[in-house]
Amino acid sequence: MTPVAGSDLLRQMKISDRLLHISAGGNDGWDLYRKSKALIARGIPVAELTIGEHDVRTDPSILGAMDAAARAGHTGYSFGQGNPNLRESVAKRIAERTGTATNPGNILITPGGQAALFNSHMAACSIGDRALFIDPYYATYPGTIRSVGAVPVTVAALPEHGFQPQASAIAAQADGAASLLINSPNNPTCAVYSRETLDGIARVTKDHDLWLISDEVYDTQVWQGTHISPRSLPDMAERTLVVGSMSKSHAMTGSRCGWICGPEEVIQTLLDLTTNTTYGVAGFVQEAANFALNAGPDLETSVGAPFARRRQIALDLLARQNLVKASPPQGAMYMLLDIRATGLSGEEFGERLLAERRIAVMPGESFGSAGAGHIRVALTIADDDFAAAFAQVLDFAAQIVG
Ligand code: PMP
Repeated sequence: MTPVAGSDLLRQMKISDRLLHISAGGNDGWDLYRKSKALIARGIPVAELTIGEHDVRTDPSILGAMDAAARAGHTGYSFGQGNPNLRESVAKRIAERTGTATNPGNILITPGGQAALFNSHMAACSIGDRALFIDPYYATYPGTIRSVGAVPVTVAALPEHGFQPQASAIAAQADGAASLLINSPNNPTCAVYSRETLDGIARVTKDHDLWLISDEVYDTQVWQGTHISPRSLPDMAERTLVVGSMSKSHAMTGSRCGWICGPEEVIQTLLDLTTNTTYGVAGFVQEAANFALNAGPDLETSVGAPFARRRQIALDLLARQNLVKASPPQGAMYMLLDIRATGLSGEEFGERLLAERRIAVMPGESFGSAGAGHIRVALTIADDDFAAAFAQVLDFAAQIVG
């Protein structure tokens, strides 16, 4: 494993190898984000299109429910597995949306989707097991896998396939692997996996006896196509751990409330981990989440609506040129742009865009080698500012090719 920067000093301090090995060292892909934050701190305006954080805060009605719950006494230790009413609501929601029998025993409430990703890999992987995941990938995936002592192995999903992972590519890496992590709607590619893709994935996981960990935190942000949860496919409920979260659907990123949906035996066994790590999620946060899930579809729709609008603004601007192409913009709060026609890498494009136009985006290379030659633009600033910044991105690309 590559040692992290400054690791000699850290080793002298006797910090454990396990902790030091979570980071792979080298470039973590967040350079441009840090540079843009540094510019902003110096008072230089930057159009900040790097991270996936809503430009609205949690709805006041949810905050009201949180406040009321805290005042009503939900400030003590909560149930480790999650409050029964919230697990009931999550189970009902999953059953309604996927048509798959789901009960509160299938649900573990976790401090956000990130903890659900960690816990799922703890359940699926023994130390030293190979854990597959799809490249391009959300930034924490390899570190999460290393955190549980497993070995991260990428399977490339390619632009020529619309970033839909191919069953044959997964099968080629599957021998001796313990798990496969997928994410649809996908960050950063915005692909929503088709039925055909998911059937192929289901087949490979059954043929090779893999756990499927399905990160569905963007399931309410689908702009094209239909979100299918692979847990609903034949015989998949027994080998699938679904990762869900209130972060993206209800703009509750800071509240840290997510879940795993999986077989009851797995959920029960994971309680040992909860007891010895987080001890559960704050009761008043869970009550607020329960309120939000039962508030009807309007809250969710209003959280997603700005992204749908800005996606359309971007598509209209893209239609006026043919140099930069969107990877199929099917879901999530981003757009992945193919800038290969400029001859620049995503990193070079991003560096120059920040230096010359004061616009910060994520280079595709930050999400793995299959993202090379792309940039990810977050749909997270006000419509007019977004339209102006997006037009600048396209103008900059045109300038590069002269
Ligand atoms: N999965 C994906 C694909 C994400 O993009 C994120 C957050 N950006 C997460 C999981 C984690 O979200 P949270 O822990 O806030 O639920």
